[in-house]
Amino acid sequence: MGTAIEWTDTVWNPVTGCSKVSEGCRNCYAFALHDMRHKAFQEGKKLPQQYAKPFSKIQLFPDRLVQPMKWKKSKRVFVNSMADLFHNDVPDDFIWNVFDIMAKSPQHTFQVLTKRPDRMMEMLSGRYWRDLGTSARPYFARIIKGEQREGDMPFLPNVWLGTSVENQKAADERVQYLLETPAAVRFLSCEPLLGQVDLEFTVQFEHPDNEGYGVQAIKGIDWIIVGGESGPNARPMHSDWVESLRDQCEEYGVPFFFKQWGEWVPFNQMDTFPGHETRTVKIGKQRAGRLLDGQEWNQFPDRGERDAN
Ligand code: SF4
Repeated sequence: MGTAIEWTDTVWNPVTGCSKVSEGCRNCYAFALHDMRHKAFQEGKKLPQQYAKPFSKIQLFPDRLVQPMKWKKSKRVFVNSMADLFHNDVPDDFIWNVFDIMAKSPQHTFQVLTKRPDRMMEMLSGRYWRDLGTSARPYFARIIKGEQREGDMPFLPNVWLGTSVENQKAADERVQYLLETPAAVRFLSCEPLLGQVDLEFTVQFEHPDNEGYGVQAIKGIDWIIVGGESGPNARPMHSDWVESLRDQCEEYGVPFFFKQWGEWVPFNQMDTFPGHETRTVKIGKQRAGRLLDGQEWNQFPDRGERDAN
């Protein structure tokens, strides 16, 4: 299954359904799309059985688990574009099945994005701690500090873990959990970006056996995606917010991917209106495009990147 999402090649949806957790969910495209089809299903339209239930009902599709193992060509795979894998109603065992499939499909790079990084951290850290015992602790400390050594691999090398950050509140709440989760690549999806986000704050880590230490949030991040909102009720995105994240990425050497402006574009980003006016105008996603300061930003992380061959 192909996708129009610019930062991935395909989507894989062994789970569908979710519930809203924060401002970034207000105009959730998956919610709107599923419930529109659910309504049509109820009106008698011929649609797949999954639309018999509303989006608020979490549905598991065990038969879809093996799909990536059948794709021979290497792809970037966005895991659950129509759900949040770490929603409370997805059982632990099913999540481990998803991770087992990812481990058995090293030809692909899997991109797991969640607004529930607390559960992701609890599950992934918990398993490593349990399996590796106290010997995992020094590994863990080195991973957080970005000082991995050969042999330090208590995570899947082809799985990128990310959390959504739509504003500062989400960054303050979620980034710490992401940084505490062992991962080959940790990323942020700042879409829809709804405000200024400063990632230079310090995250404090504490462990029972040591005194704890702090690290700047952005230093634990390997990739940042930024995008504006699309759809009928889309909220505008200020160019200052985007440029600030781009500048933070440049300063700390973090790859930056600008996905789209969304429905609204600032005047100062339009060819037809060059100037300093930062007010936004609603012109539609296609026309608004994805140029920031006159260029595309399509950077990807080096760490964990697929071999182009
Ligand atoms: S967490 Fe994601 S899938 Fe779930 S409601 Fe929010 S935006 Fe939609």
